[in-house]
Amino acid sequence: MTLTQLARMTEDEAREYLEGIRWPNGPICPHCGSVEVTRLNGEAHRAGVLKCKACREQFTVTVGNIFESSHIPLVKWVMAFHLLCSSKKGISSLQLQRELGLGSYRTALFMTHRIREAMTEHVDTALAGIVEMDEAYVGGKPRPGDGKIHKKGRGTSKTPVVAVVQRSGDSEATPVASVSIASLKSVAGENIAPGTVLITDDLNLYDRVGESFTGGHRSVNHTDGEYVRYENGVPIHTNTVESFFALLKRGHYGVYHSMSRKHLGRYCEEFSFRWDHRKMNDSDRTEAAIKAAEGKRLTYREMVDGSGDSSAVPASA
Ligand SMILES: [Zn+2]
Repeated sequence: MTLTQLARMTEDEAREYLEGIRWPNGPICPHCGSVEVTRLNGEAHRAGVLKCKACREQFTVTVGNIFESSHIPLVKWVMAFHLLCSSKKGISSLQLQRELGLGSYRTALFMTHRIREAMTEHVDTALAGIVEMDEAYVGGKPRPGDGKIHKKGRGTSKTPVVAVVQRSGDSEATPVASVSIASLKSVAGENIAPGTVLITDDLNLYDRVGESFTGGHRSVNHTDGEYVRYENGVPIHTNTVESFFALLKRGHYGVYHSMSRKHLGRYCEEFSFRWDHRKMNDSDRTEAAIKAAEGKRLTYREMVDGSGDSSAVPASA
């Protein structure tokens, strides 16, 4: 559905839309997994309440996922999902607050972080084939005492993010405490299959990372001005992972302005989700994100504390 179609929905229609995405084959009890479910109709019940015949618990489509306990109208939720899924560089909480008429910035911020939580994918299949790997420094604020000096690239006080992107495939981006052999190896080991051909730039740390890959390690010598070469017709470059970082950085500078260290992992997940679903249209991407909300929760306390975000755990100290 387009944003205009979503905006015209009644609350009942929005609920039916969410039910159709979550339960394409009919409702499933989020408490026990039973499909023996009846709809409680009539004035005595809230709209959308279902009852499980097996465990006798009541539930709605907003139980057992990131919507749980939210008082925001479902129409605004589906529009927020659409806006975050269709904007290449993301959408700031301030803009979302204005466009959806949300009561407070805090509400908008909590909403966007819950959507990012839904977008967080824990894929079982490792990246394979040809995988490009690189690191960049994004987000965060300069540490006290750094003054106005903002160094670029390696050695800056900003938070390093390591990204791995499979050619014509998926991506994963992870903030790390520092760029080291240990942190790079950790990200590579968690996300890339052993038989992969790994392509990086000529940062020498990658030589040690590349040793683990039986597909071999190719590095492009950026220092000497080499950006692409061909081996048996295969282009050796890191342009794909650099495109990923270009989007993340444009989002950082153009939309979010500041991605705090605490939330950086979740922003990375947002950009990675859009990247991985880039071949879908906006409507399908939105529905994929809503579907991915299943079983995920993020409380306001977890957001404020910076917990509940496994992707932000430093890969190495
Ligand atoms: Zn049940």
